[in-house]
Amino acid sequence: MSTHESGSATAALVATAQHYFVPVYRPRAAVLDRGLGARLWDIEGREYVDFAAGIAVCGLGHADPELVAALSAQATRLWHTSNVFLSEPAIRLAEELVAASGFATRVFLCNSGAEANEAAIKLTRRWAAAQGRPPERRVILSFQGSFHGRTLATVTATAQPKYQEGYEPLPAGFRYAAFNDPDAAAAALAPGDVAAVLVEPVQGEGGVMPAAPGFLAALRALCDDHDALLICDEIQCGMSRTGTLFAYPQDRVVPDIVTLAKALGAGFPIGAMLAGPKVAEVLQYGAHGSTFGGNPLAAAVARVALRRLAAPELLANVERQAQALRAGLERIQAKLGVFSEVRGRGLMLGAVLAEPYRGRAGDVLDHAHRAGLLLLQAGPDVLRLVPPLVLTDADVAEGLDRLHDALCAFLEG
Ligand SMILES: *Cc1c(COP(=O)(O)O)cnc(C)c1O
Repeated sequence: MSTHESGSATAALVATAQHYFVPVYRPRAAVLDRGLGARLWDIEGREYVDFAAGIAVCGLGHADPELVAALSAQATRLWHTSNVFLSEPAIRLAEELVAASGFATRVFLCNSGAEANEAAIKLTRRWAAAQGRPPERRVILSFQGSFHGRTLATVTATAQPKYQEGYEPLPAGFRYAAFNDPDAAAAALAPGDVAAVLVEPVQGEGGVMPAAPGFLAALRALCDDHDALLICDEIQCGMSRTGTLFAYPQDRVVPDIVTLAKALGAGFPIGAMLAGPKVAEVLQYGAHGSTFGGNPLAAAVARVALRRLAAPELLANVERQAQALRAGLERIQAKLGVFSEVRGRGLMLGAVLAEPYRGRAGDVLDHAHRAGLLLLQAGPDVLRLVPPLVLTDADVAEGLDRLHDALCAFLEG
């Protein structure tokens, strides 16, 4: 296989991107052009195995014919109505999300993960306000290492200083506790001023860290004791990524609110807040809104994505390929000794770099890119593998080969 050095067309576009974009990202020097399943090609025709899926978004891979057909069909009919008028795709999607969730009774549709969490935060505040709780008793508790989005409220809920620094003053009424520490959570709820606990069943950006057995159940019990809401942020770990459509049932809890985005639209931007019976009537007419929320194109695609991602065949593939990927990572580890741990659930895996290689996940990603593999990191120490859930045996084998080559090159360099 040819090595992946960029040609002049790529170099020119990279330079233009660097000139015109607000430089908040540092993308790898490839310009992706098209995809099929779990493979992608850049503008120079070089092929990549996709273990990134657009950050756990493209659950059905690229150019899925049924998604393309749904989008194309909707594109010829109606693109946008706003919420001043109704359109059928959003109505059907809401109905189907409620049915699939097993706990929710109402849905708010929006366009991104941050907006879904923002809706959950606003709902919490209104819920507490309606109970007569003063503003200082409407605290949202979240966890160290969490990621909940980039708007001011959601970045404040994101208990990682690197995302918050310089954005002060941050909104008031947020508190943090150590993840996977029920005693710390109990202490944080003890003052009796917490209105909601916001938690990722598997932390994504924070290093691919699953909730420890019993942690979510402990949070549910604490929320019940203190009359607080339990909000599960399933924006990354939901939509079958961890082997079940939603992640929270694996911990045998019933949340009050679940937020979704990323894979819900399989690559078309959409977010959703699912509200259970305790809180579904809190936000009444005029209380919240979004111009694009429930957009017909997004909803038409998400309906197909939801049906396909919930299908038993797909869940069986997640299980099968997750085992293959884990076994492959363990073989690589046995040979190269580069990892200290492989963790995660389903097809949301984190390979933690061993002590001598800490802080160098970015370098591994550079080598992976050159070897024809798209990979992510979760912080400086963790390689994050979140491939399309439809990847095949051949995709896994080829991706692992390329990862092995990339790690050898990394160790030599
Ligand atoms: C990506 C992510 C978000 C934010 O979603 P955006 O669509 O980028 O706003 C929130 N929570 C979790 C767990 C995420 O992974």
